[in-house]
Amino acid sequence: MHQEREPAVVVDGLRKTYGEKVAVDEISLIVHEGEIFGILGPNGAGKSTTVEAIAGLRVGDRGRIRVHGIDPWTDRAALTEVLGVQLQEAKLQPKITVQEALELWSAFYPDPEPWAPLAERLGLGTHLSQRFEDLSGGQQQRLSIALALIGRPRVVVLDELTTGLDPRARREVWDLVRDVRDRGVTVILVTHSMEEAQTLCDRIAIVDAGRIRALDTPAGLIDAGTAATITTFDTSAAIDLVSLREMDGVTAAYSANGTVTVEGAEGVALAVIEALRMQGVSPQRLRVAAGSLDSAYLDLTDTPQEITR
Ligand code: ADP
Ligand code: MG
Repeated sequence: MHQEREPAVVVDGLRKTYGEKVAVDEISLIVHEGEIFGILGPNGAGKSTTVEAIAGLRVGDRGRIRVHGIDPWTDRAALTEVLGVQLQEAKLQPKITVQEALELWSAFYPDPEPWAPLAERLGLGTHLSQRFEDLSGGQQQRLSIALALIGRPRVVVLDELTTGLDPRARREVWDLVRDVRDRGVTVILVTHSMEEAQTLCDRIAIVDAGRIRALDTPAGLIDAGTAATITTFDTSAAIDLVSLREMDGVTAAYSANGTVTVEGAEGVALAVIEALRMQGVSPQRLRVAAGSLDSAYLDLTDTPQEITR
């Protein structure tokens, strides 16, 4: 008989205020075992507060959380055996060396992963005697991932892992996160980068102002957005943008420097091409692309000016 697998993490009706400030209004979600679950949203959305509550570092005013059946607010000791965490604000002592940090963390766990092969796997093998302050940003992040993994967690929380990294270091860290997932560890990834969420996550919760605005796979979110497909073409002819905008499924049509862009639901592209033919226009450099998370995200969050990519 099919056995329903226990979810890795259940968050049910979480609320957290700091005095007057409502950081998390009401958040409920389920993270499945073995997935990379993204929490995406602008600064101040309540992402860190949510994962800190999951990691037992903050206690909610309301709600209930379970991590593999453990209550993180009352049983921190049991929690540390199943959950590893890399926090947004965590900074190690500047003078500590890579090896010292790995040994220190190992001492916290009854059955730590041997740190030397772990360091090797994370590309830190040749940096063991280097001090934290002398590591590059990417190396520091890799060390923080190593420290989050050393207790052999079943769930790892990574908060704003690649913020401030250059594109190459970002990609290396992304590969690492996929490796971690491929080894069977459930990953909760907090990010404000749409690209990162779209690239890495199996499912994404878009959070804004302490609430979940949408929760789906990246493809599901894109399809639900107002620009599932984006059609662009060049033309020197005058285009009747108004009639394009009135077409079924079209959410936006605009023109700049001879390039026309039409955004809309799946299937709009063919209708647009047909409409152009009727107008006697032959489009040049016609491109049809799947939309990105951007439009879904912008539709769902109120504070687009804070987005950094
Ligand atoms: P995010 O990680 O999405 O940027 P946070 O969870 O860190 O958001 O913060 C949510 C809101 O709660 C923000 O407005 C933030 O300023 C506020 N906040 C976070 N921590 C505290 C705290 N310790 N005291 C007061 N306000 C806080
Ligand atoms: Mg944060």
